[in-house]
Amino acid sequence: MHPDHPANEHALSDDARAVDVPPAGTLHFDALPLAPALLTTLRQLEYLEMTPIQAASVPVALEGHDLIAQAKTGSGKTAAFALPLLSFLNPRWLAVQGLVLCPTRELAEQVTQEIRRLARGLENIKVVTLCGGTPAGPQRASLEHGAHIVVGTPGRVMDHIERGSLKLDGLALLVLDEADRMLDMGFFDDIAWIASRCPTRRQTLLFSATYPDGIARLARQFQRNPQMIKLEETHASHKIRQRFYEVRHEERLHAVVTLLRHYRPLNALAFCNTRQQCRALLDVLQAQGIEALVLHGELEQVERDQVLIRFAHNSCTVLVATDVAARGLDIKDLEMVINVDITPDPEVHVHRVGRTGRADQNGWALSLMSSSDKRRLGAIAQACNIEPEWHALEGLTPASDAPLQPPMATLQILGGRKDKIRPADVLGALTGDAGFTREQIGKINITDQSSYVAVARGIADEAVRRLTGGKLKGRTVKLRRL
Ligand code: ADP
Ligand code: MG
Repeated sequence: MHPDHPANEHALSDDARAVDVPPAGTLHFDALPLAPALLTTLRQLEYLEMTPIQAASVPVALEGHDLIAQAKTGSGKTAAFALPLLSFLNPRWLAVQGLVLCPTRELAEQVTQEIRRLARGLENIKVVTLCGGTPAGPQRASLEHGAHIVVGTPGRVMDHIERGSLKLDGLALLVLDEADRMLDMGFFDDIAWIASRCPTRRQTLLFSATYPDGIARLARQFQRNPQMIKLEETHASHKIRQRFYEVRHEERLHAVVTLLRHYRPLNALAFCNTRQQCRALLDVLQAQGIEALVLHGELEQVERDQVLIRFAHNSCTVLVATDVAARGLDIKDLEMVINVDITPDPEVHVHRVGRTGRADQNGWALSLMSSSDKRRLGAIAQACNIEPEWHALEGLTPASDAPLQPPMATLQILGGRKDKIRPADVLGALTGDAGFTREQIGKINITDQSSYVAVARGIADEAVRRLTGGKLKGRTVKLRRL
């Protein structure tokens, strides 16, 4: 970090000041004092305009201020801290200059990926991910080779600090990402411990999707004179069509089936308030032949990865989740959100429905309410800035006789990043000797141990047959359909 880093000028102070949010589209990245290589990368990634949270927070962060930034999931918060981080750090000094704390491994991996994407035009910037669920040995080795940026979950970061494998003397920027979720998960004390090991002369950026009370406490303890940026949630609401259905409590789960058969979404995220309700809904959907998966805290990491990959592949129609399980995840192109159980918190409702209708897409948000839930509607409608539309379930008929099926299926190939497999290798195997066309192949994801490829549902079994026993990177292919 440069010695003239502007964070050094600020005095300690407790009160946050608010910053005006520029209207969307008024700030182009070119207007920022960013390195030309970064601007080129942004153009290549087709980041043409800053998102509102970026427009409001990047200039403030670049000036060296501490920051509390609140904006909903999917609003581009990662780049909002990654860009200042990448512009401050000195690539020729191999010391940890930036530390990003995230609540879960997936989020840490998403952040690492986004930082690497943004950094690809810059000199050799080393980013290391430190999370539980993976052996600490290789992480120590990566740290020994030197790292500029560490992204990790609090527990594992603490381990590495305690063992002396992570040194923070050179740290200039600390980021608390998804701070609300970290508080929910009880990480306050861990964050406090880690912050106490960071140099006091540093810049601290706090990002959060919601603004619960605990955030102010975090800010008071770890930030100095933070600037406060809070984005109203209304900007995307016109693209989200919300409908409310009254339903008797015991009919709720079957009502979800009725909605799905009528609207036939490509994909839907169904929110329940409890894990038991998630499991009950999963049983009902599966019994009706609808492909559904559940995301909950008890899944092993590999299973969780597979669930998210299958959903992203359009190999599964419904993802059933609680708020805790789904928060922060970047799920793209979501057509529908179903509130199976209405949430008691209007802000959480806004957040749930905001998962759909991203970018230029329209989205559906359907909510089931029992008559006793109806008293919550006023607050929800106000938070969403809508006139609630009531619709009747009775009139809803299946839109087609054909079964509701996802268009794709996911194949898991044993062997991944550790075996130097790249997406092009997987695509090549399918379109080469196996004889499939590019159009029959969808998304490809490579994890440490496995590769996942989406293929048109109709060719999935045939693809397994044709690939079995073939070669990939010199090794015999082992695969299965998920
Ligand atoms: P958040 O942390 O607010 O939930 P993310 O940082 O995960 O949001 O960003 C959501 C998605 O938007 C990501 O896929 C990211 O690549 C994309 N994105 C971020 N900034 C921009 C931008 N300025 N233009 C276009 N896409 C962007
Ligand atoms: Mg985020």
